[in-house]
Amino acid sequence: MRSFEDDLAPLRAADLHRSLRRIHSPQSTVLTVGDREFLNFSSNDYLGLASAEPVRAAYKQGIDLHGAGSGASRLVCGTLDPHMNLEAALAAFKKTEAALTFSSGYTTAMGTIPALCGPGDFVILDKLSHASLIDAAKLSGATLRVFPHNNMEKLEHLLQWARAKSTAASRVLVVTESVFSMDGDWADLWEIVRLKEAHGALLLLDEAHAFGIMGPQGRGLASKLGLAGKIDIQMGTFSKAAGLSGGYLCGSRALVDLLINRARSFIYSTAPSPALAHAAAEVILHWLPSAYGEDRRNRLWRNLDLLHQKSGGLIPEPASAIVPIIIGAEAEAMKLSAALLEAGFLIPAIRFPTVAKGRARLRLTLSATHSEAQIDSLLETLLPFLEKYE
Ligand SMILES: *Cc1c(COP(=O)(O)O)cnc(C)c1O
Repeated sequence: MRSFEDDLAPLRAADLHRSLRRIHSPQSTVLTVGDREFLNFSSNDYLGLASAEPVRAAYKQGIDLHGAGSGASRLVCGTLDPHMNLEAALAAFKKTEAALTFSSGYTTAMGTIPALCGPGDFVILDKLSHASLIDAAKLSGATLRVFPHNNMEKLEHLLQWARAKSTAASRVLVVTESVFSMDGDWADLWEIVRLKEAHGALLLLDEAHAFGIMGPQGRGLASKLGLAGKIDIQMGTFSKAAGLSGGYLCGSRALVDLLINRARSFIYSTAPSPALAHAAAEVILHWLPSAYGEDRRNRLWRNLDLLHQKSGGLIPEPASAIVPIIIGAEAEAMKLSAALLEAGFLIPAIRFPTVAKGRARLRLTLSATHSEAQIDSLLETLLPFLEKYE
């Protein structure tokens, strides 16, 4: 039998081996690793809420009011007031009939897609969809097809093909992210909605990287584009801009009812901590929609604009808080990330299998809480490297 080391060796040889880095400080724009401080440009905590005072206070209050653990799965005796309050707050915020929460975005996808689709159904995904969506689609047993990123002609083709193959009972589900997690660009949402309507398909939209930072009050990209009412299944997570963790699914009451009965990652998992649910509800009710949230969003978009302006065009105008700097070769991206780390900047190289082979990149992210001086400092170190790659 082959050893574990036998499996690891080819990863090391291909510059694809990964390991954990221990951070000694709370999530922030400055992180302590070992005895050094680093400027952090790698977090998804886009609004700086993960360590923000009102969010810490809400979490502590959640423990005092509702306890630390939920004791059981949601269907047994783990559905406590804060879980129901969170789902009501979320449905109101997203303007859907109902909402359901899961322990993570990953488990949201893993529960939802197999609950909705199975053998005889069709799932059609954008090629750059997050691993959770791809894994879930595979698990479902439905027939899978992938279209090249934002290639609407190919999507239309696949929708026609699926319709020709389906029976009256078949479901056809289109799956995409709204803001793509490794590229930061947007789905062609107008066209996707037009096509799914024209072909009688459903749309699942993962707003993980848009929730909290885009659209009115941070409701997401679909809301920004005035399309939220046309999205059948709206997915997202509290783990990025909301600064916490936990996944969500918003849609019709019947959809949520079906998931409560069929989503295995929901049914067979202990309900998330009631303190966490309380904190998430507070973020959705009070901190995202308020002047506080608006100020954080304004600071984030101002920082993104500063990065672009001050780079003299070397960094294109960002479409989201994610700024990819494509390098290409895995080893080259690793070298650049290591050089930046040496200079005091945490900007990870993202490689296969997270992105395609030969499309390795630096994935730079900004937060509302970065100061202009921190952005200046980044550019001073980064730009000489980028000029070399031009
Ligand atoms: C992060 C992410 C997820 C997973 O969410 P978690 O709450 O971190 O499990 C799902 N989809 C996309 C697009 C993501 O970026």
